Amino acid sequence: MAGSEIERLIALLARLPGLGPRSARRAALHLLERRDTLLDPLAEALTEAAASIHRCAVCGNLDATDPCAICADANRDAGLLCVVEDVAGLWAMERTHVFRGRYHVLGGVLSALDGVGPEELGIDRLLARARAPELREVILATGATVDGQTTAHYIAQRLAGTAVAVSALAQGVPMGGELDFLDDGTIGAALAARRPLG
Ligand SMILES: [Zn+2]
Repeated sequence: MAGSEIERLIALLARLPGLGPRSARRAALHLLERRDTLLDPLAEALTEAAASIHRCAVCGNLDATDPCAICADANRDAGLLCVVEDVAGLWAMERTHVFRGRYHVLGGVLSALDGVGPEELGIDRLLARARAPELREVILATGATVDGQTTAHYIAQRLAGTAVAVSALAQGVPMGGELDFLDDGTIGAALAARRPLG
C-alpha cells in the first residue's frame, strides 16, 4: 500500500469539493506521475497563493492586494454595491462583464439551523458601507435558496428608510440556484431585470 506521504496527499485531496476518496487517489497518482508538468508547478502555485492571497478588508474578496483590484479600480462605479454570498458569487458576476460596480462578500447566509445570525455575517459592516454618500443602489445577489432569500430580505429591511435604493436579481435565477452554477447570460439578464426590494 502507499506510503504515509502519499496517504496524506490523498487525504487532503479528498477534502476538496467534488473529490471523494476514490477520485482523490486518482488525482494523487495523476500528480505524482507528472512531476515536471503538474506536481511541481502546482506545489509552487499553492505556496505562492498561500503566501500572497488575502481577504480584502473592504469587500471580502480574495486577492493578492488589499484593498483588492476591484475595490482599488477607480473606473468602477462606487454608486453600485452588489451583495454576494461568497467569492464564487463574485466571480460568477464578474464573468458576465455586465456589472461595473463594487461588491460586498457576506461569507455566508443567515441560517438559524447553522447558528449564523447578523453578527456572524457582519451585517453591520455592510450597513456602514451602505451609508457612503456616493452609494445609490445596493443590489442583493444572494442565491435563490430559502436562506439566501431570507438574507436578502433581512438586509433590505435593515436598509429601509436609508437614502439608498435596494434591488434584487430578477427571477431568472432558478429557485435553489447558486450564482456559481448559472450561465453568464442568465446572470446578466437577472441583473438587467433586477427588481426593487423592500
Ligand atoms: Zn475588495
